[in-house]
Amino acid sequence: MSLLRLVDMQLLVLQPTPFCNIDCAYCYLPQRNDRRRMSRETLEAIGHRIVSGPMYRDQTTIVWHAGEPLVVPPDWYRDAVDILEAASGRTITHQSFQTNATLINDAWLDHLASPGVSVGVSLDGPQDLHDLNRRDRRGRGTWRSTMNGIDRLNARGIPFHVIAVITRTSLDRPREVAQALVAAGPTSIGLNLEEIDGVNDVSSLLECDAQDRVRRFLDGFLDVLDATPDAPKLREADALRNLLGTMKSGRGARSQENTPGAIVSVDVQGDISTYSPELLGVEAPQFNGFKFGNVHDIRDLSDVFLSRAFLNTHRQIAAGVAKCARSCAHFPLCGGGAPSNKFGETGRLDSTETAFCRLSVKTVLDHLADRFAVPATEGTSR
Ligand code: SF4
Repeated sequence: MSLLRLVDMQLLVLQPTPFCNIDCAYCYLPQRNDRRRMSRETLEAIGHRIVSGPMYRDQTTIVWHAGEPLVVPPDWYRDAVDILEAASGRTITHQSFQTNATLINDAWLDHLASPGVSVGVSLDGPQDLHDLNRRDRRGRGTWRSTMNGIDRLNARGIPFHVIAVITRTSLDRPREVAQALVAAGPTSIGLNLEEIDGVNDVSSLLECDAQDRVRRFLDGFLDVLDATPDAPKLREADALRNLLGTMKSGRGARSQENTPGAIVSVDVQGDISTYSPELLGVEAPQFNGFKFGNVHDIRDLSDVFLSRAFLNTHRQIAAGVAKCARSCAHFPLCGGGAPSNKFGETGRLDSTETAFCRLSVKTVLDHLADRFAVPATEGTSR
């Protein structure tokens, strides 16, 4: 099928376990009490049928995600990579862990320091803001445990980025959020405005006049970064610069999340999805729960891209992207948005604007472009 020749897989998202040791208020994962681990047989099948295939490239990153990856010990990951490499005949060169950092110990430090392994930590800012949502199963805040993990990473000289979820409460305190994140010592900071995704069907940002508040938040946040020597990079600013460079070269932006095959996700039992990783496991019988095949049943990924459930999903997502292209001045920067947000907010994939894109794409990119005095779009209403 032409898709397989056209698309390089950028991320292979593997779910070692659905389980998470904490219980964040805004979590989108539906099965975070499920303690199963991906089996040896499933890893072998992933190696044979996905990693050995033409879409997997040397630069593809394996992302261990969709649960807290550090609840599974580092030896499991060493064995998992050995199994994938033996089954595929390829070398796994890039792996990524996004973690709450509460379980980082000496054994984990050794593993995270390995070549080709990158680390991201979820940290929402100062203690009270972090602990407001990021709590353990007894309702206790996790900031101290997360900072303990971060201190260990810094003491070992292991670079990491942070991702902060920005809620309605955080919007009023940009400087404190920035100062806390900078003090943690990351190489870069990503700001995730709280979104409706997966089983998280509410967002505190929908309840207020969020656009003005997001702009004010960005100004306060950037003032702190500007005043900080050797400040970490801001992911959103880097993304804008890259997107503008892409536009200048005459190529439009493409969203990984709406490009079939750019991201391939496999859950703990071998079910396969593509597009936004958050779609896998969502209640959606009309799209077969966005499960397009299972590694134990397919011959290779072409079976996934020829499945009825995939083709039905693909038609709807392509229709939404085409509507975005016709109607939105931000399309050259956005590429048509994330299917998980469209489905989470509208129950459809063929829709266009969402509260998420209004804030995270339109408001953020326009405001950063204003601040950097570069034209993001022409004729954009804000
Ligand atoms: S910003 Fe929103 S409406 Fe515009 S292209 Fe992106 S998803 Fe579509």
